[in-house]
Amino acid sequence: MTKFNELSLPEPLLRAAKDLAFESPTPIQEQVIPWMIDNEEDLIALAQTGTGKTAAFGFPALSLTDIERHAVQTIILCPTRELCLQISKDLESYAKYMPRIRITAVYGGAPIYTQKAALKAGAHIVVGTPGRVNDMIRQGVLKLETVKLLILDEADEMLNMGFKEELFEIMKHTPAEKQTLLFSATMPKEVASLANGFMKNPHRISVGGENKGAENIKHYYYKVHAKDKYHALKRIADMSPKIYGIIFCRTRTETQEIADKLQHDGYNADALHGDLSQGQRELVMSRFRSKYVKLLVATDVAARGLDVDDLTHIINYNAPTDPDVYIHRSGRTGRAGKSGISLTIVHSKEFAALKAIEKRLGREIEHSKVPGGREICEKQLYHFVDNVERIEVDTEQIESFLPNVYKKLSWLSREELIQRFVSVEFNRFLNYYKDIADLDIVGESSAPKFNDKRSFSFSSFKINLGYVHSMNKRELMRYINRLKVARSIEIGQIDIFGEYSVIQIDSEYEKQLLKAIPKNKWNGLPVTVSVVAPQRERKRRENETSRGPRKKGPKA
Ligand code: AMP
Repeated sequence: MTKFNELSLPEPLLRAAKDLAFESPTPIQEQVIPWMIDNEEDLIALAQTGTGKTAAFGFPALSLTDIERHAVQTIILCPTRELCLQISKDLESYAKYMPRIRITAVYGGAPIYTQKAALKAGAHIVVGTPGRVNDMIRQGVLKLETVKLLILDEADEMLNMGFKEELFEIMKHTPAEKQTLLFSATMPKEVASLANGFMKNPHRISVGGENKGAENIKHYYYKVHAKDKYHALKRIADMSPKIYGIIFCRTRTETQEIADKLQHDGYNADALHGDLSQGQRELVMSRFRSKYVKLLVATDVAARGLDVDDLTHIINYNAPTDPDVYIHRSGRTGRAGKSGISLTIVHSKEFAALKAIEKRLGREIEHSKVPGGREICEKQLYHFVDNVERIEVDTEQIESFLPNVYKKLSWLSREELIQRFVSVEFNRFLNYYKDIADLDIVGESSAPKFNDKRSFSFSSFKINLGYVHSMNKRELMRYINRLKVARSIEIGQIDIFGEYSVIQIDSEYEKQLLKAIPKNKWNGLPVTVSVVAPQRERKRRENETSRGPRKKGPKA
């Protein structure tokens, strides 16, 4: 295999590559770097993020720059502000030993005057988003007549985002004699026609065949009932204690809902979607990058700008109907030679979409069983024990407390002590997963299995608080959740009446709730509870449907 320092690049660039620990070029670099150094023809490279493509075009672009010439020589266009910043940051790191080279990023959503000033001060390489680049051209601050190299990064994403016109506009301001490079993860006909529009006999490079996704990504699917998706997601997360991944949802509402539920259930999760302000989005992304947030629930659009290398999992909460969307998502894991897992949780109606993805991917997506309670508990237990084994003990800091701790625990044997320490961490998993049912749909049938506990039997609880006490559905749900009888509790229909409310809750927790509720006041008011007998409950509902909700119910 070629070594990075065997590529014909100038010494300062090789030194920077060494600092970055780039020992061998990635496959795309192996093809693109020598080709760009030796050729002036146009190039189309099918490659996803994570394959090392920034360095593939970045090193030659830097190497081809004439520092003595104070003019823009390379323009790199990319779809989002985040990618723009990422590329310019990467280029700066490659140009660490080329102090006189000037790289400027221009992107929307930031004050234009600082970017203008940077351009006016002179730039050899400009990295920009199409909209802002056009603004700069129109305002006469950016001149592209001197450009020798035009690079379109994530061309498919730029077209998806509606930048086609902007790209053609920019093109008009560049000289006819230049080299154009187009990088794209997928090659839909829109990208092919864009390439036809302004590239001359481009040379084509594809990493990993027709770019069907990296080989080091494993693809699995889980087949469950639609109502069980969230439970399946939790089990998948619990089965991978070191999970660091993105959960893709279809809509902003679904994204927020799943993130809220996960947070409520004690996971380090957060939501990223278009309803958040730019500031909020940046905060979420930085918390995710620093791994404070381990599970990011996101929409495709909002996650576009996010560039994270070491994701362990991509989880598709639904099967995307466009196979290219799946390829893009899964390409976010298994980057820089690492392995990654792409999972899809489907219900029966999504099976056709899954098959289409398989076809596009060119390989089978393996069926996987949703992990069972015992497996998860075992995994979590060993993970915990591993952590105990590896933890660094700061004896100096805890020394003064230890004599009292030893004294307090001295009556316990070694075995008892271990059992207790393990239980402290582990009981919540044991309680949650005790006797839990399978979630898998067996075969193609979508009929619920008769022993599927999660097709819930609800008990109806009558609670002595109604709208005269300012109780409402939301408050009642919050109150039930605050009781913490389980990590996640299924709630069915809620009816608020004048002086009382009736709420359906998973009957599995009936006893615990009857015990917990009387001990917990609501807004300072004592709460009493009783279970509505099934016949009475049916009757009550029949009355309701024939007469509409009653203003005042029977005395509790
Ligand atoms: P990219 O596809 O450009 O987003 O790169 C993905 C990641 O791979 C980045 O973190 C790069 O720093 C890293 N990378 C790129 N080229 C190499 C290389 N030759 N050796 C090791 N890591 C690399």
